[in-house]
Amino acid sequence: MKYNGVIERYKKYLPVTKKTPIITLQEGNTPLIYADYLSKLMGENFEIYLKYEGLNPTGSFKDRGMTLAISKACEEGSKAVMCASTGNTSASAAAYAARAGIKCIVFIPSGAIALGKLSQALIHGAQVLAIEGNFDDALELAKEITKNYPITLVNSLNPYRIEGQKTASFEICDCLREAPDFQVMPVGNAGNITAYWKGYKEYKESGKIKILPKMLGFQAKGSAPIVKGYPIKNPKTIATAIRIGNPASWKQAEAARDESKGMIDLVSDKEIINAYKLLAQKEGVFVEPASAASIAGLLKLAKKDYFKRNTQYARRNTQIVCILTGHGLKDPDRAIKSIKEPKLVQANLKAVLKEIGC
Ligand SMILES: *Cc1c(COP(=O)(O)O)cnc(C)c1O
Repeated sequence: MKYNGVIERYKKYLPVTKKTPIITLQEGNTPLIYADYLSKLMGENFEIYLKYEGLNPTGSFKDRGMTLAISKACEEGSKAVMCASTGNTSASAAAYAARAGIKCIVFIPSGAIALGKLSQALIHGAQVLAIEGNFDDALELAKEITKNYPITLVNSLNPYRIEGQKTASFEICDCLREAPDFQVMPVGNAGNITAYWKGYKEYKESGKIKILPKMLGFQAKGSAPIVKGYPIKNPKTIATAIRIGNPASWKQAEAARDESKGMIDLVSDKEIINAYKLLAQKEGVFVEPASAASIAGLLKLAKKDYFKRNTQYARRNTQIVCILTGHGLKDPDRAIKSIKEPKLVQANLKAVLKEIGC
């Protein structure tokens, strides 16, 4: 059967009816890649998997929620959608709005979004306003406007975003035939950790899985409001997708952490960049910096023997799924800044052979 996106595949679990027009780009169905290098690094009895969400149509997991948010907006007769975005939400909203033939307005924090993401919003024809402020300022404006004008807010405050995003946990369970023991992921506005947890709980309720994973979320050190326990006025990190000082789904993220007996911790930019390079160079998987926070978190906890101490099911290997939220090509500048630039060599055989050590 032809695959036609997450709404069609999981409609049983989603708030759609026969009347809902399905606006899809065949998002979802992303690979769960066995991580050879990381599994070996973690030692015997560990299986590490990478949920490569960068392979969604616009390059991030945001498409899972956007297909539903835009479909429902169309069902309700909306002619325009709006979001504030660190980049990926606007890229996704712009693409799905184009597909649906409705208007899209996006607010981005000026100077703080990666080039790939900005180019997407622009080329899909969204009206892009660069707000002189940070993400949290932009979101406040979008909330205020959509409250008073007939424009649908498609930030993750829109409940359909969370509903669509929970399909990623269904895919993981369908693939492993059970939930993993641990799930590691970056946390920004905290919609995604909320969505995954909701998905796992619903799958357990419906009898598809028997266990629930411990949810392990990671914020960047310079923008870790949930870890610190208070909003951060000027969040800082190179991982722009999680540069958020006052997460919209703060409470739900804490609930996911507490109900699953997991944790929300932080990783430094240096740890993020090291994990970013490790993933690209040892696993062959290119992600944007925010996504590497998953692997930075995995390695941080492994060093403290967290997984060995918290593993409960000794009869089989411990399965850990790391969510890789966005594609590396979103932010090519960061890749080039993180590695030495290509060396200039004369166009003759001798010079080239010398450089490559032959
Ligand atoms: C949106 C996003 C995040 C953060 O997800 P939240 O739901 O805001 O916590 C992380 N990584 C990437 C690539 C994103 O686009």
